[in-house]
Amino acid sequence: MTDTDANALVDRVREDDLRLHELETHADADTAATARRRLIESDAGVDLDAVGSYGFPADRADANVENMIGAAQVPMGVAGPVTVHGGAVDGERYLPMATTEGALVASVNRGCSVIDAAGGATARVTKSGMTRAPVFRVADVAEAEALVEWVRAEEDRLREAAEATTNHGELTDVTPYVVGDSVFLRFRYDTKDAMGMNMATIATRAAAEVVEAETPASLVALSGNLCTDKKPAAINAVEGRGRSVTADVTISREVVEERLHTTPEAVAEVNTRKNLVGSAKAGSLGFNAHVANVVAAVFLATGQDAAQVVEGSNAITTAETREDGLYVSVSLASLEVGTVGGGTTLPTQAEALELLGVAGGGDPAGSNADALAECVATGALAGELSLIAALGSRHLSSAHEDLGR
Ligand code: NAP
Repeated sequence: MTDTDANALVDRVREDDLRLHELETHADADTAATARRRLIESDAGVDLDAVGSYGFPADRADANVENMIGAAQVPMGVAGPVTVHGGAVDGERYLPMATTEGALVASVNRGCSVIDAAGGATARVTKSGMTRAPVFRVADVAEAEALVEWVRAEEDRLREAAEATTNHGELTDVTPYVVGDSVFLRFRYDTKDAMGMNMATIATRAAAEVVEAETPASLVALSGNLCTDKKPAAINAVEGRGRSVTADVTISREVVEERLHTTPEAVAEVNTRKNLVGSAKAGSLGFNAHVANVVAAVFLATGQDAAQVVEGSNAITTAETREDGLYVSVSLASLEVGTVGGGTTLPTQAEALELLGVAGGGDPAGSNADALAECVATGALAGELSLIAALGSRHLSSAHEDLGR
């Protein structure tokens, strides 16, 4: 790229010869981003030097962003190492976390060290499946009933059409829901190591064409919001979406007292009154302290779809005293993660996945995304433990004063 190349593009946009989104078809991606940034800087009267100081070739982001002018840089830290005894991961891991919230990594780090002192966390993916639920129009409820019967009888034909669009995806089930003259078909797929939203959408489009060809139903929208993607929804909490994953740990009384400066009874009480009673009173979908913090930070670090923090933080935390100390668990109902596709191939995000040992496709397929889900759940457990204990020992505000401001 030369300055002349970028300036020539700027001139052509000014002369209405090119539109702002067409620059990549006339120059390499870095030149196009530079020209676009210069135009925006001059139009808006701002300096975007920091935005333009990105550390990867712009064409690596071709599939991830349009009208690129640079990159937003978020600081990344690590918590851990923490030992995860999972179904797909077994051993010590550092958790990469990208955040702007001071004290967050330190807090999760403290939780990790307590989990390690207790011998590590146990984690398991208990359910898996990415969903897409198109909505069809029918004449009336009698036609709706006929459609539901047809879908139940012909699921194999829908499977054949859906699976013809993908090498990895498998249609596991189709669940119909009827509301008046609307019929929603909730397709669920095993998307292996992909988060799977594109994969499920493409496969569902093919299946929906079969429904339209063989029945009187008309497709109104490929997504009928019963999926449910990027909106808080009880269906995800109940049925799961992406990975349903739980991490738990039992910590001796000595470790709770020495490292967390509180007692198992205080932790259990804070959890009951805050995470369970308080959340119930608030009508909350999540019954936890701050699972969204860990989900968001690991999502940003590893190239997950940031908007899916909405359903990723749909979690329940439990804490109870036991004879041998304190039992704590966190269950994330709908954690949508992938180690291929989407933002996972961007350079820093791919390195963060490497750090976790889960970059790319797993062997067997799906095992890397399962492992990532188990690592996120363990991080969430560490975050819950640390914050609940801080509340139990009443030193939360002082930690924020020392570390965050
Ligand atoms: P994708 O990047 O569209 O597709 C992943 C691809 O990886 C698949 O096409 C699959 O090929 C291939 N693949 C290679 N190895 C694989 C393995 N081991 N396991 C699974 N797949 C493997 O990613 P996606 O996960 O389906 O979708 C994620 C993207 O969707 C994100 O960028 C997200 O922001 C976006 N998104 C889309 C929608 C939507 O409605 N379309 C909604 C929300 C988010 P085969 O299919 O041939 O097997």
